Amino acid sequence: MRIRMLGVTLCLLLAAGAHANTTTLAQAPSWSPATSREQGDLRISRAGSQPSARGPADFFTGSVRVDMLFSATAPSRMSGGNVTFEPGARSAWHTHPVGQVLVVTAGMGWVQREGGPVEEMRPGDVIWIPPGLKHWHGATATTGVTHLALTEAVNGQPVIWLEQVSDEQYRR
Ligand code: MN
Repeated sequence: MRIRMLGVTLCLLLAAGAHANTTTLAQAPSWSPATSREQGDLRISRAGSQPSARGPADFFTGSVRVDMLFSATAPSRMSGGNVTFEPGARSAWHTHPVGQVLVVTAGMGWVQREGGPVEEMRPGDVIWIPPGLKHWHGATATTGVTHLALTEAVNGQPVIWLEQVSDEQYRR
């Protein structure tokens, strides 16, 4: 019985997302049916239920595949997707109003902030991009990369696109 109740609490924390703030399982509040109704039901998006999309040429150089995982559900403003860059492919320069987290899941890529070095990113690396910082991310010249991108929107806008990354800028 105790295990089952912990399971219910964990589901609520996942559904509540950012609303869960610092609550942990150890200090979880007592569960009640009323709370469950206010927070809505679990929503499970099954693997393969969303088609892959091509990264548009206005915002990317080379071959880029975007596999959207979830769009923002109010009051959360966070969306998430997997982005796969073929060798040589990269985003245009851009900024995020309230930042972005990248988690590299396969291959090896490059990421650069304006004025900084081109840095390698490898599977397991977690990259925090601060609000308003001009940057790009993508594959290396010879290897593809896949990263999870978690991005919060402001007024529905998760990203502000700028100019493309030139071949001269794209080197290490
Ligand atoms: Mn970014």
